[in-house]
Amino acid sequence: MTSEKKEIKLVSNIKYGGPYQQELIESQRTGTCIFCKSTFQSQVLCEYKGWILLRNTFPAMDSQGGHAQFHFLAVPKKHSKSLWLNSRGLAAASHLFTWARNTYEFEGGAIFQRVGSPKFSGMTVCHPHVHLVVPRLDANGDSIPVYMAVG
Ligand SMILES: [Zn+2]
Repeated sequence: MTSEKKEIKLVSNIKYGGPYQQELIESQRTGTCIFCKSTFQSQVLCEYKGWILLRNTFPAMDSQGGHAQFHFLAVPKKHSKSLWLNSRGLAAASHLFTWARNTYEFEGGAIFQRVGSPKFSGMTVCHPHVHLVVPRLDANGDSIPVYMAVG
């Protein structure tokens, strides 16, 4: 399989559409990684041991068509082709998410990471990263579910 075919396959893996899809298509067209772009690197909220914490520019959608209250990404500054994290990377992500919790004072959420082949994980940016998603609340104070795709 040529690398060109591999990239086309990744585009077909995009499920979110709109501006996010355009950003990914542009990234693949120019051969630049979204997380390595200076615009992302300039949005750093916190940094720890070579990892940065960002707000996701395209936060996850919830079941009512809105966006999660918070959608953070913990990302290593250095690009890696390995899409599996080691214990050092997970520890750095945990540190950054603790900082986010203490800074933004939310009560809970979910941490997840897509790993390995995008065919199985559904990963669209092939640079290791970990998500922390905090749902928003409805008028009754109940959380509005956020669903994340895998595969
Ligand atoms: Zn990258």
